[in-house]
Amino acid sequence: MELIFEISKSGRSAVQVPASDVPEVNIGDAIGPKYLRGDLDLPEVAEIDLVRHYTNLSRRNFGVDLGFYPLGSCTMKYNPKINENIAALPGFAGLHPNAPSEFAQGSLGLMYDMQRLLAGLFGMADFTLQPAAGAHGELTGVMMIRKYFEKRGEKRRRILIPDAAHGTNPASGALCGFETVTLRSNPEGGVDLNHLESLMTQDTAALMLTNPNTLGLFERNIEKVAAIVHGAGGLLYGDGANANAYLGKTRPGDLGFDVIQLNLHKTFSTPHGGGGPGSGPVGVAEKLVDFLPAPRVVKNGEGYSLSEDFPYTIGRVRAFYGNFTVIVKAYAYLRSLGEEGLRRATEMAVLNANYIKERLKSYFDLPYDRVCMHECVFSGNRQVAESGVHTSDIAKRLIDFGYHPPTIYFPLIVPEAIMIEPTETESKETLDAFCDAMIAIAKEAKENPQRIKDAPLSTPVGRLDEVLAARKPDVCWERS
Ligand SMILES: *Cc1c(COP(=O)(O)O)cnc(C)c1O
Repeated sequence: MELIFEISKSGRSAVQVPASDVPEVNIGDAIGPKYLRGDLDLPEVAEIDLVRHYTNLSRRNFGVDLGFYPLGSCTMKYNPKINENIAALPGFAGLHPNAPSEFAQGSLGLMYDMQRLLAGLFGMADFTLQPAAGAHGELTGVMMIRKYFEKRGEKRRRILIPDAAHGTNPASGALCGFETVTLRSNPEGGVDLNHLESLMTQDTAALMLTNPNTLGLFERNIEKVAAIVHGAGGLLYGDGANANAYLGKTRPGDLGFDVIQLNLHKTFSTPHGGGGPGSGPVGVAEKLVDFLPAPRVVKNGEGYSLSEDFPYTIGRVRAFYGNFTVIVKAYAYLRSLGEEGLRRATEMAVLNANYIKERLKSYFDLPYDRVCMHECVFSGNRQVAESGVHTSDIAKRLIDFGYHPPTIYFPLIVPEAIMIEPTETESKETLDAFCDAMIAIAKEAKENPQRIKDAPLSTPVGRLDEVLAARKPDVCWERS
């Protein structure tokens, strides 16, 4: 496809500016010539060429509105458009972040209600809405853990992280100056309790547990895990990025978690992986409330205001108050579904993942064969052994069938991993069609493996050098 610069023809225009009805001013005189650029080489195209160019570009992309997107751990579900409309209401979208509290009561009230709603749903004492993403929420949570031990005068240097945790967890611990220690999983895919006991010393600040973990499995011994961590004076951190696996069924606070971060841009009506704004609220148990980021929305009588008056706060972690429109969408989603609707969404997410697991398990290796939560993890080992077809080949071939590939080669503890998250919003027909495609590929691997290794066959470009693309991205166009 040609670039918009390449189809440019001098003199063409897609806009017609109406005749001016105010006196002309030379802008160079008004702001000074140094702000003017004569060399701004903008493309000149007619409206129809402009429309075609961007419409064609958008058709080269893939999104949930086009088809099934089972990218494991990312919850690429359909998000109702009405929540976008609500977030775009002028009172929300047009509010200036520096508006005085008395002009922002509705928005402050929404944030206050959201904090209380999340606290109730997750069984935590309070929430901050400041962090801008899941990993940012983790960082915020670990900063609070660090401050908690500082205030108690305890020097604890280590954080434990299971080998089935999300990859951002060790990074968050290390960024706060902790040494991160890997905790082994047991053969069932849960925490190895003996290993945990041996590592949970007076030097250990916390265990960061992704639950359900990246195998899509719920920790069966969660109460024992919490007791071991608390028994040694440590804190239990929960990575709650995939809350659609248990929302309305269980509350992390009741299970013993002291801190938990959420991904509003997964579970709550904003897509993950879209490159747009996210939101990673962090909930805490009573003993950590003092350390929450400030400013916080507080309620005084009937009104709301922002208060910085928290002496032990870790401070501000984000400009202004977080990505407000993402919070509005999540609030609209929560209020429109209600408790019963959320529970039903969880049930569908888990049912859909188990349906796929059962339909595909005779065609692909299933290393942990037990009831899964919101996603299931296969291994491509059998295909490698039988025909030399790797998981990456299977993923490429799925593109020819019209699907976004699942997450692959993650979690790291499953060789040739294929991590499928169907989400709660997909119909049985969609799941069946996807399973049929996976089964067809499994058969093709035996009969015509080369075809899979050559895939994708239906796209404008085939296999790219992904390493080169990541290491030396060529994103600048130069006029020839
Ligand atoms: C997605 C995810 C994260 C990271 O969230 P970002 O918003 O991408 O930073 C952390 N933990 C788990 C378990 C996740 O699935």
